Amino acid sequence: MLMRKLTMPMIRADDEADPPWDHLTALFNIMPHLVAAVAISSAAVLPYMEGERGKVTLVILILALQVSMRGIADICFRRRAPTDPLSIWLRRFSIISPLSGVAWGLALAILYSGGSPDTQVVVLAIGCGILQSSAARAYMAPRSTLLVILLVTAFVNVAAIREGNWIMVPICIAYVGFLATYMVRLIALDEKRIEAEKKTRILLEALADSNEKLMHANEQLRRHARTDALTGLDNRGSFDEELRRRLAQMRDAGRPLALLLIDVDHFKRFNDTHGHQAGDRVLQRLADLLLSQVQTLDGLAARYGGEEFAVLLQGEPAHAAGLFAEDLRKRVATLLLPLDDGSTARLTVSIGVALAHPTDDERGLIARADRRLYDAKGAGRDRVCDADPSERLVGTA
Ligand code: GH3
Ligand code: MG
Ligand code: MG
Repeated sequence: MLMRKLTMPMIRADDEADPPWDHLTALFNIMPHLVAAVAISSAAVLPYMEGERGKVTLVILILALQVSMRGIADICFRRRAPTDPLSIWLRRFSIISPLSGVAWGLALAILYSGGSPDTQVVVLAIGCGILQSSAARAYMAPRSTLLVILLVTAFVNVAAIREGNWIMVPICIAYVGFLATYMVRLIALDEKRIEAEKKTRILLEALADSNEKLMHANEQLRRHARTDALTGLDNRGSFDEELRRRLAQMRDAGRPLALLLIDVDHFKRFNDTHGHQAGDRVLQRLADLLLSQVQTLDGLAARYGGEEFAVLLQGEPAHAAGLFAEDLRKRVATLLLPLDDGSTARLTVSIGVALAHPTDDERGLIARADRRLYDAKGAGRDRVCDADPSERLVGTA
C-alpha cells in the first residue's frame, strides 16, 4: 500500500490541466533551493572557522551550481510557450530534481566527513530539515521526492559509514520510514482534494445544464401562455398586455395607435353547414392572412376570442388603418376556402376601426372599435366602419 502510493505517477497528469501545472509551478520555484543552500552553507561555518577552507569552497561551489541550475530551470519554466505540453515539463522536472538530491547529499557528506562532532550534529540537523521540507511537498511529485530523500540519505550514510558510524544506518532507515508514512498521508489528502474538486466541477456542470434546460422550458412555457393554440396568433392575454404597452407608447412617445376588431360574418352558419373542423381550418387560414398583412408593419395580430380577431397598428401604419382594414376585408372576401368534399366556400368579415386618443384607456378604445364593428354588422356585414375624422386628427397629431 505504502509503495503503491509512493510509486504512483510523479504527477497525476491524467487529472485536469490545472492541478498539475499548479504543482509544477510550485516545484520549479527557486525559493526552497535558496533556503536549502543557505541552510547547508550555515553548516559550513564551523569547518570554515576550523580552517577547512578547501572543503568549504567545494561545498559552496556545489551549492552555487545547484542553485544556478534550479534558477535557470525556474526562469525557463516561467517563460515556457503557452502551447507546451505538460509532459515535457514533467520530464524536465524529473531530471533536475534528483540532481538537486545529489548536490545536497554531496555537500552534506563532504561537510560531515572528517568534521568535528559539533559539525556532524549541525550537518545531520540541517539534512533532516531539508528532507522534512522535501517530504512536505511530496504530494506534488511523490517519486521524485522519494528519490531525493534516498539520495541525500545515501550520501550522508556513506560518509557516516566511512567514519565508522554504523549506527546511522538503522537511524536513517527509521527516519525515511517515518517520512514515507507522512508522505503517504499527504498524498491521500491531496487525492481527496482533487477528487472533491472533480465532483464539484461535475456538479456545477450538471447545475449549469439543468439551469439552461429550465430557462428553455420557461421560455417555451411563456410562449405557450401567450399563444392561441388553434391559430398560433397571440392570445387574448397577450393582446391585452400589448395594448397596454402600446397605449403607453402612444401617450409617452406620441406614436399613433389604431385598433381593428374583425369578426367573421355568419360563422355559426358556416360551422353548421360545413362542420366545426372546417370552421377551425378557416380560422387558421384567416390567422395566416392577418399575420402576413401585419408582419412588415409595426403591428400585432391576435385572436380576440371565438371568431373575432384584433389588429394593432402603431406609428405611420396607424394613419392608414381604414385603408388597411378595407384591403383586408377585400382579401378575405376573395379567399377560396377549400372544403372536405373538394368544393370551396367564401366568407366575409366585418371590421370596426378606432384610433387611440391620449385620454383613452384600453376599455375605451376597445369599446369604440367594438361599437364600429357592431355598426358594420348592422349596416349589412362585409364592410369596414372606419374611425371618425375627429379621431383621425388626433391620430395624426
Ligand atoms: P355574425 O355575423 O353576427 O358575427 O354571426 P356569427 O354566426 O359569426 O356570430 P355568432 O356569435 O352567432 O357565432 C359565432 C360562432 O363562432 C359560433 C361558434 O361556434 C363559432 N366559433 C367560435 N370559436 C370557434 C372555434 O374555435 N372554432 C369553430 N369552428 N367555431 C368557432
Ligand atoms: Mg362574434
Ligand atoms: Mg361572427
